[in-house]
Amino acid sequence: MGKGLRWDIGRKQAREFYKEQGILPPEVFDAVDWDGLELALKGKPQMYKLWYGKQCTGYCATNSKMVQWRMSDDSRCPDCNGLGEDAAHLMVCPNRQRRQLLEEQIRKLEDWMESHYTDPELGRMVGQYLRGRSRRKFASLSCNSRQLLILAKTQDMIGWRNFTEGKLTRYFRVVQKRYLSHAGASLTVDSWLKAFISKLMEMTHGMWIFRCISKHHRTKGSLVLASKAKLFK
Ligand SMILES: [Zn+2]
Repeated sequence: MGKGLRWDIGRKQAREFYKEQGILPPEVFDAVDWDGLELALKGKPQMYKLWYGKQCTGYCATNSKMVQWRMSDDSRCPDCNGLGEDAAHLMVCPNRQRRQLLEEQIRKLEDWMESHYTDPELGRMVGQYLRGRSRRKFASLSCNSRQLLILAKTQDMIGWRNFTEGKLTRYFRVVQKRYLSHAGASLTVDSWLKAFISKLMEMTHGMWIFRCISKHHRTKGSLVLASKAKLFK
């Protein structure tokens, strides 16, 4: 069976799965640039792909999942203490350090966009959208072209969480292809998309690592406190 055909079957199943899980309705699924996402995932370590799959489907070991799996009775976020920490909370946690980390990552992404032939208008919109932390719509940002407006509207259909997990509207490809050729860049649109999507995934992965370190310290911290309390009994 040809590789292309196998991928088609995989994509069909994914489309069905995403619909069942309520992650993406089929018409929105088709608006996503899956080719770009596939390029970004290609060559990533297996463990990274495993984390990525768990994050996207919500089956990662967040504290609300740990409660659901009866492995814990504490569903609070290790950083902000909010109840019911789930996969969607990862990129919207209001904890100050988490917000600081996000800001640092956004700045790094902006530096990368600036040095890698990104349409300046698009780059500005991406920074503003990310800083909105899910509360700002792409289409609410000012833009100077019809294509960017279509990009913004279709990205809003795909949504914030999916964006932070590297699911872009196909219009990123359209806008960037045009800009790269206009700028006379030797960079191909596939290479740009691969790197840009990888950066978004790294941003989300970095947040997961930070959260896991917090959880570890917190667990360790409370264990230490418990043993200290025992000593004074
Ligand atoms: Zn939190």
